[in-house]
Amino acid sequence: MSEAYDVIVIGAGPAGYPAAIRAGQNKLKVACVDEWKNFDGTYAFGGTCLNAGCIPSKALLESSELWQRAKHEFSAHGIAIGDLTLDLPVMQKRRASIVKTMTNGITALFKANGVVGIQGHGRLLPGNRVLVTGADGAEKTLQAVHVVLASGSTPVRLKTVPHDGHYIVDSWNALEFTEVPARLGVIGAGVIGLELGSVWRRLGSEVTVLEAMEQFLPIVDAAIAKEAQRHFNKQGLDIKLGAKVSAATVAGNAVDVRYSDAQGEHTLQVDKLVVAVGRRPFTEGLLADGTGVRLDERGFIEVDEHCRTGVPNVWAVGDVVRGPMLAHKGKEEGVMVADLIAGHFAEVNYRVIPSVIYTAPEIAWVGQTEQQVKAGGRAYKVGTFPFAASGRARAMEAAQGFAKIISATDDDEVLGVHVIGPMAGELIGEAVLAMEYSASTEDIQRTIHAHPTLSEALHEAALAADKRAIDGINR
Ligand code: FAD
Ligand code: AMP
Repeated sequence: MSEAYDVIVIGAGPAGYPAAIRAGQNKLKVACVDEWKNFDGTYAFGGTCLNAGCIPSKALLESSELWQRAKHEFSAHGIAIGDLTLDLPVMQKRRASIVKTMTNGITALFKANGVVGIQGHGRLLPGNRVLVTGADGAEKTLQAVHVVLASGSTPVRLKTVPHDGHYIVDSWNALEFTEVPARLGVIGAGVIGLELGSVWRRLGSEVTVLEAMEQFLPIVDAAIAKEAQRHFNKQGLDIKLGAKVSAATVAGNAVDVRYSDAQGEHTLQVDKLVVAVGRRPFTEGLLADGTGVRLDERGFIEVDEHCRTGVPNVWAVGDVVRGPMLAHKGKEEGVMVADLIAGHFAEVNYRVIPSVIYTAPEIAWVGQTEQQVKAGGRAYKVGTFPFAASGRARAMEAAQGFAKIISATDDDEVLGVHVIGPMAGELIGEAVLAMEYSASTEDIQRTIHAHPTLSEALHEAALAADKRAIDGINR
């Protein structure tokens, strides 16, 4: 007889592992199957986010930011430290050890919540059975009442830019460089391209970012995108807009990149080329014939707002389904599904999902951009507050950027909050909570914010929306 579970989760990334943990907390018998292998061949839970995405990128962003500050900003504090040396192997060892600690943490969380963690490939068979192929090739079939598909995503590759993992690389390879490339090319000025470009620029690379679109960061509020572009240019990131890459070839120890823009055809020579042109849902080997699970035209598993696939008791969550490819969005979906399976009420509020770009200055937002609000036709008011007027930001030598709030004129509803500046990713949490609780702009105005903190910028922006800012001039 095959092993039987209430719930089997395929994929232990930030969507799958929380689904398994919550199922365990709901006293369901649960297994979570994951096939992630690192470059050294070892299995690890945590998926893209912990092994090759959110966590290692933030480790390197932090280290490179400290390097940058030590080099260029300490002197403003009156701290002279003489010649600085960069020890990239130590920096990379730290990154790897953070990843290891975090991924090992999932094994411990599985144990504490009664989740059976299985390392190997999972394939959904008809009848809610899962065929598991272990590291040694041994196969076993598990029976489940419910199956949660959380197989994630993988980088998009360009046919004419052949990946070789050494000269032409993806975002994962670019997090594990063992030397600082003298000349780095990045295709794609999206979130991942900008974060990776920032890391290596700070550590000394000459970075050129080639972006096919004419508009910089179109997903971001236009005023924030403009401010970001100004800072990135100042930092020496050479961002070429309207530059469409047509081909790349490795020649000797370098890569020749061909691209075209309004001026014509160009060739750029770099030492490493990172392809960061987006991610696609990953479902290879996941679905046997006859399961009935449907994919849409872009390869995402089709689901409703509760992540039901339409096949009874088969659910799908995270990057493999529609919606923003963000770890926290997948986590909430995983938790929702595990609660729905247990018969509890659960939902995900897709209107209130924060986004963060971990550059310096950081960029974070929730809700609609001013352009979206305008297009929607609702009357609105805008309040902004510059970090230049924040005592705390000044004390941190980080008085760059601003906070912006967009609110409805009729009922004071907060429609969108956008921050570019120090710790924007942390600051946005307040706005997310405000919107989740349907707070009005006046509620934020009446909330006491500690002084001096960066959070006062949001308070003052909310006041400015009604021309009642205290620490800024109301226009
Ligand atoms: P994944 O994390 O991709 O996990 C899926 C898991 O399923 C993998 O371990 C995979 O091996 C396994 N799997 C797939 N198929 C099978 C199968 N058939 N059998 C067994 N196992 C299988 N998001 C943020 O929110 N914040 C960030 O700061 C951020 N930074 C990022 C930086 C980079 C460089 C990258 C690449 C991504 C970043 N992301 C970030 C995006 C984030 O990593 C993803 O949104 C998130 O990992 C999606 O989670 P998931 O669980 O859906 O999929
Ligand atoms: P994102 O989807 O946010 O990760 O961003 C990926 C970016 O890559 C998008 O802004 C695309 O316009 C850009 N892109 C995709 N293909 C190319 C290409 N061939 N040349 C230059 N930029 C590209």
